Parts: sequence; C-alpha cells; structure tokens
Amino acid sequence: MELITEPDVYTPNMNDKGNYVDKTPSFKTPALANGLRCPCGTRKGKVYSSAQLFSLHCKSKTHEKWLEDLNANKTNLFTENEKLRDIVHAQKIMIGKMELELSSKNMTINYLTQEVTKIMNTGTKIQHTASTASANDMLMF
Ligand SMILES: [Zn+2]
Repeated sequence: MELITEPDVYTPNMNDKGNYVDKTPSFKTPALANGLRCPCGTRKGKVYSSAQLFSLHCKSKTHEKWLEDLNANKTNLFTENEKLRDIVHAQKIMIGKMELELSSKNMTINYLTQEVTKIMNTGTKIQHTASTASANDMLMF
C-alpha cells in the first residue's frame, strides 16, 4: 500500500442551492494525516494542521473572495472541466499509442543489439550496404 506523504488539498462543499460553501473537514482522518493545503492562494504552500487553524483561515478576506469567485464562475468551471476531461481522454489514448511505439522500438533495439553482439563475437565483417538495409527494414515498423 502506498503511504500518503503529501498534504490533502481542500475542496469546499456544495450546499442544496448548488453553491460552494466552506466546511472544515475533520483532521482526525488518515487522509489529513499530513495536513491540508488550501488552493485559494492566500498563503501559498501553507499546510494547515488542525481544524481550528483551517477554520480561521476560511474567514480570511482572500479565502472568502476565492469562494465568491468560485460561485460566480460555476458554469465556466463546469465547461472547463468538460474540456479537461476530453483532453485527459485524448492524452490517455496518445500515451497508449506511444507506449506501443516505445515497446516496438525497444524490441528493435534489443534485436539489433543482439545482432551486433553476435557479429562482434564471431568477428564477421559487416558489409556496409547489407547492414544498412536490414537496420532500415527493422526501423520501418
Ligand atoms: Zn483558502
């Protein structure tokens, strides 16, 4: 099991009217064993270690403004989230294709390394045109 070493990042709750509201989470859960960071930007990198300290932070002007902005831009955030989902999906596909390509290239490299090792071990002279052609053939797929 992976150990959690990073502080958790705070996300406000949503009330029954669909607005973001502050709710200080319990710090007695394993998820907050390393504290809580707030994305509002009041104190960049600051990690809160207790519910009291975090709830004080939530009353700061910058944090309150951040929450207001979050509520004012809800629709934009939803649209942005949809765009990001599409990007993540497309990138997963790209990564999958690149992994296949990488695997294929690794196989080629392994094969060619074996061939070179064989040639070097047997002391066979490499004929320039023949070796160039076979190396190119291998790199085409
Ligand atoms: Zn904050």
